[in-house]
Amino acid sequence: MIGAIIVFSGVILDYLKGSGVITIRYEMTMPAVALYLLLQLIAIAKDFAEGRMELIRLNQSLDEEVALQTKQLKEKNEQLEALVWQDGLTGIANRRYFNEMVANQFDHAKQQQQKWSLIMIDIDEFKQYNDYYGHVAGDQLLKVFVDIINKILPPNVLFARYGGEEFVLITQDDQAMSLAEELRQRIEHANLEHLGRDLKRVTASFGVVTYTNEETVEELLHKADENLYMAKRSGRNRVYAS
Ligand code: GH3
Ligand code: MG
Ligand code: MG
Repeated sequence: MIGAIIVFSGVILDYLKGSGVITIRYEMTMPAVALYLLLQLIAIAKDFAEGRMELIRLNQSLDEEVALQTKQLKEKNEQLEALVWQDGLTGIANRRYFNEMVANQFDHAKQQQQKWSLIMIDIDEFKQYNDYYGHVAGDQLLKVFVDIINKILPPNVLFARYGGEEFVLITQDDQAMSLAEELRQRIEHANLEHLGRDLKRVTASFGVVTYTNEETVEELLHKADENLYMAKRSGRNRVYAS
């Protein structure tokens, strides 16, 4: 608009000059057109600069959005990975993780001629607990049970849920018998009510086996299971080792 006025003024001035109405030394149309073009150029350059800034801003926000999405994706992946190895109810390692670890432990200990042990734990008469208090309370007991054990476990002991109300420990030494006995007592003395059974409180049985450089993992697990069975058969709430 301003440019048009300038050009128009230049033409009028030149017309008035040509008609002898006014006296000016120079022709005005050409400078007016030049000024008009200059203003147009400035306007284009301004639009271009603003467009560029907008593009930079958009680019920045896009980068931020991508970084945020990547971070969230990474967190989700980590959560999913944890779920693969973790027991959903109690938060300790699950059987899949245990299977991986026990195989590693087996290879490692064989090379190092190291002693290590397995402890199998099973809550006594847990079915009656569910029958008496309901399945939700049964789940809650499993969590409390895990907390009691977790509180006193040495740091290098692997503790996993083997399935249902059955748990397993891998210890790096031959002190498994005394650890199992300590755990048994802790659980008994926690005095968790279990009115669905004669003893009226929660207890657990333990099967312990120490690796002697001869067995396979399967044989070791089988032996631990047999010892657990013996603990059950001989009255529950006890540790049985071989
Ligand atoms: P025992 O002393 O011989 O071990 O007897 P038990 O009753 O503990 O053993 P049994 O194998 O007869 O029953 C185990 C029960 O555990 C049956 C099943 O319903 C229950 N159970 C398994 N997994 C879960 C779980 O995740 N939550 C709850 N609430 N109960 C479970
Ligand atoms: Mg049981
Ligand atoms: Mg069982």
